[in-house]
Amino acid sequence: MGKTVKITVLVDNEAPEGFAKEHGFSAWIETADGQRILFDTGQLGALLTNAEKLGIDLATADALVFSHGHYDHTGQLPAFLEQNKTAHIYSCPQLEIERYSCKIGTAPRFIGMPEASIKALESISQDRIHITSSPLYLTPGIAMTGPVPRSEAIEDTGGPFFLDDHRDTDDLITDDQSMWFETEKGLLILLGCCHAGLVNTVEYIKAMSGKDKIYGIIGGMHLVNADQNRLDFTLANMKRWNPDVLVPCHCTGQAATEFLLKTIGDATVKPGHAGFVIEA
Ligand SMILES: [Zn+2]
Ligand SMILES: [Zn+2]
Repeated sequence: MGKTVKITVLVDNEAPEGFAKEHGFSAWIETADGQRILFDTGQLGALLTNAEKLGIDLATADALVFSHGHYDHTGQLPAFLEQNKTAHIYSCPQLEIERYSCKIGTAPRFIGMPEASIKALESISQDRIHITSSPLYLTPGIAMTGPVPRSEAIEDTGGPFFLDDHRDTDDLITDDQSMWFETEKGLLILLGCCHAGLVNTVEYIKAMSGKDKIYGIIGGMHLVNADQNRLDFTLANMKRWNPDVLVPCHCTGQAATEFLLKTIGDATVKPGHAGFVIEA
């Protein structure tokens, strides 16, 4: 028996009239049996604005799962913790490490978890914090991957990511993780930025869950810097998985989204935005 799950995008780079948008990602998950999970928090004010607009009460979340430590996913932790006094928080190790984006020709930019979010995390009962180095089921049928093995060399982290501000040590973003939901329709996969690579992530989820049928994939696919080789590789695997729904959000990138629309088609590819809902 699979779960019945509803995922609502709370924060995204795109939003229709009346919703707030920002560079960031957050999603709200509700199950038919009453579980509520927040996945990432976005960066700025869109989380609270859009939750209120959608009638989502963040205080009722049982869990907050972080996909990784980047500022655009962890920035609103203080606001969440102000509303929610009980949720347990899940992440991979190294969520809070210092990290930078260092594009050649521009000044290095700190893109780690903001100081205020680190302080907020330290201020709550540490019994509420769970750090996982391996796949973890929250309840039967709902799981997070933990760190994802990087099997495919073609799938790099997708950006000029470093652990220092002078380009010495690559940030492999080992804390990147995704969630999966085992539904009646098949696997529903929720991505944050997917710095671990989409093929690495989906194949890992198939192996860990023991399930093959993929109903849907939603979230940031981080193909924004992908070259044509990588896009073709991703496309070939998507065709093999043959999902019913693909929802590119956040850092997928406009060019990659258009490529998917052109090659897979708009019957399957539904570009995401704040307020977008997928049910399975
Ligand atoms: Zn990221
Ligand atoms: Zn991101």
